[in-house]
Amino acid sequence: MNKGEGEDGDAWRIGLDLGSTAAKAVLVDAGGRVADRAIDRSRGEPAAIADKLVNELSARNNVRTGRIVATGYGRSMAGSAARTVTEISCHALGLHSQHPDAATVLDIGGQDAKAIRLGPGGSVEDFAMNDRCAAGTGSFLEMAARRFSLEVGELSAFCGGTPVDGGGGERIEISSTCVVFAESELVGLAARGVAPVSALRAVHRAIAKRVLLLLRQVNAAEPLYFTGGVAANATLAAAIAAETGMGVRIAKHPQFTGALGAALFA
Ligand code: ADP
Repeated sequence: MNKGEGEDGDAWRIGLDLGSTAAKAVLVDAGGRVADRAIDRSRGEPAAIADKLVNELSARNNVRTGRIVATGYGRSMAGSAARTVTEISCHALGLHSQHPDAATVLDIGGQDAKAIRLGPGGSVEDFAMNDRCAAGTGSFLEMAARRFSLEVGELSAFCGGTPVDGGGGERIEISSTCVVFAESELVGLAARGVAPVSALRAVHRAIAKRVLLLLRQVNAAEPLYFTGGVAANATLAAAIAAETGMGVRIAKHPQFTGALGAALFA
């Protein structure tokens, strides 16, 4: 007999975050504790990926699937979900459950960035979102990584964990607020002989400038927690801290915060 059967069949719940770049799933037990996580790339078929992640978590943990709640860009496509909840609400609740002291959430994913000021119990007091312009999101970093033949996960170490260039030389700035023009700027910098590390540090500082505008829109307060796949980039966290003057804490398992929130809504 599977765990959950014969007792309360809905005791195990799954939250799905069907993002534009990655699909994430979190399994929680009856007490709301995280039992397991699963992730896959989004390949344009949210329904199929949702089923795959649910089956993977159910099989690996030998549990019958209970209630499922979906969030994220592709949430309406998850046929197995009983309900959908917005990403803003899911990030707020998921983050609060892990870090009850949090005042603000900054979520940066592949195609968008959000700032959420939290109210009591993980409620949403205010939020701002950038989903029109790639310049403040993971896709900007992906473009920059490709240009220098790096993986996006290698960027931070390549920058030595700091967005600050050593003293002496010219301070490089990326001024374009559009990824297409920013890429041309990178080409121009390379042609001038600017070192890749200097250009990439400038990319991180440029993203931090966009993030500052987003945080200002919600009157961001500390403690500020960073979530989303891009939160794995320590150089960007340092750039945001320098630009905003705020402490930037990385959430636990930052890419799964939205899926955790969805599981808790279930
Ligand atoms: P979405 O929900 O929009 O699909 P995610 O929050 O899952 O986005 O984040 C996906 C983004 O995270 C991608 O743009 C990817 O480049 C970035 N990312 C994933 N792993 C890393 C890493 N180790 N370092 C830096 N960025 C990463």
